[in-house]
Amino acid sequence: MNTDVLVVGGGIAGITAAVEAAEIGYNVTLVEKNFYLGGRVVQFYKYFPKLCPPQCGLEILLRRAKNLRNLTIYTGAEVKNVSKGGSDYTAEITLSPRFVNDRCTSCGKCVEACDVSRENDFNFGMDTTKAIYLPHQYAFPNRYVIDQRNCKGVECSKCVEACAYGAIDLTEKGKNITIDARAVIISTGWKQYDAEKIHYLGFGKFKNVVTNLMMERIASPNGPFSGRIVRRSDGKEPKSVAFVQCAGSRDENNLKYCSQVCCLATIKQANYLKTLYPEIKIQIFYIDLRAYGIYEHFLKRLESDRSVEFIRGKVSKIDELGNDNLLVQAEDTLSGTKVGREVEFVVLATGMEPSSVASGIKGVSYDENGFVSDDGLFSCGVAHKVGDVSQSNQDAEAATLSAIQLLRNSGVRK
Ligand SMILES: Cc1cc2nc3c(=O)[nH]c(=O)nc-3n(C[C@H](O)[C@H](O)[C@H](O)COP(=O)(O)OP(=O)(O)OC[C@H]3O[C@@H](n4cnc5c(N)ncnc54)[C@H](O)[C@@H]3O)c2cc1C
Repeated sequence: MNTDVLVVGGGIAGITAAVEAAEIGYNVTLVEKNFYLGGRVVQFYKYFPKLCPPQCGLEILLRRAKNLRNLTIYTGAEVKNVSKGGSDYTAEITLSPRFVNDRCTSCGKCVEACDVSRENDFNFGMDTTKAIYLPHQYAFPNRYVIDQRNCKGVECSKCVEACAYGAIDLTEKGKNITIDARAVIISTGWKQYDAEKIHYLGFGKFKNVVTNLMMERIASPNGPFSGRIVRRSDGKEPKSVAFVQCAGSRDENNLKYCSQVCCLATIKQANYLKTLYPEIKIQIFYIDLRAYGIYEHFLKRLESDRSVEFIRGKVSKIDELGNDNLLVQAEDTLSGTKVGREVEFVVLATGMEPSSVASGIKGVSYDENGFVSDDGLFSCGVAHKVGDVSQSNQDAEAATLSAIQLLRNSGVRK
């Protein structure tokens, strides 16, 4: 297969790059590892600056994508290797079987028939789905998937019998394909920093210590608790919550850099809590709070709220108390004293780590932190550098322009 531009990763940056290049007239192929497009953004409850649900911005982008006949989209497809030969690149891609074809109408009869459960990775294992499941409510494409690690296979076939459209094929096999491209844009994004590596913060040990990305799912109406922000240990609404900033970030032993968005994510999430529970007490432990540009007012508004306590100090330890409450300890660097606060729930503001750290693509060069160092290839979004959605989109447009310049210089004009 041949394409003018190959975009690797269908998060917000990758979709933007693919749509922009295709709207100019180039043949574009977008390859996404998940069975749906949208990347991390679709896991948010709301996103700043407007605090609207992610479907808002994505809907327009996906509508543009759907209208483009010169844009080919693969989901459930992981790029494993990119190599250069002459003026073209060749990408090796593994297609995972979905077991459900495009005759699926998302009627849900298959789910009713299925009697096997799996951990819901979209909600970080905080709930379960059936082995046949819709990745999330607004998934694009809006089509079911079977988790082959849990499915009982052809000897069960209850979902096949329940499907009136013949959309399920339990014998489908995965395959490997190659695509030749004149230009490649890498937009493979990020994953949350593994909070278990910061052992003194108790993540993985104490159920009521969660990460900021888990908090997005907890707050979402289509999340594990239907939008009620509750403790994982007992389902109770918390009366006090601590946010731990720079959890693993700006730390020689963990993530060396600042992810730029974690302070804003905390301000946003404090907002979720205040809206739901106006009486809640919030403590924010920080080194310094970073709200750049237009986001300054966001921070100022929270700072003026008397029920929010800002403690300048890096958290040194979190312990669990008998009642599932947590004791958060830090040194207050303004007063020079040790402080401890008992709270009912803790959110760790973990940073963004390039997804290449877990599974880098062979043939792509990465810097010491795992960000793509453009080495003939183009990159955008958090695969390239940390940033929010609007920065990632601007970056995607810049990468598209560079890719188009390369194509035009080699005589491919539209
Ligand atoms: C807690 C938190 C809250 C945030 N809230 C906001 C907010 O409210 N507003 C805002 O503007 N920003 C927010 N951000 C930042 C925002 O998440 C990023 O700017 C955005 O996700 C960047 O998009 P992306 O497309 O670069 O990456 P991603 O969203 O990570 O998308 C990358 C895609 O590439 C795919 N991929 C990876 N490897 C491969 C491969 N080898 N082959 C094929 N596909 C692959 C992945 O599956 C994924 O779908 C927040 C960040 C955090 C940590």
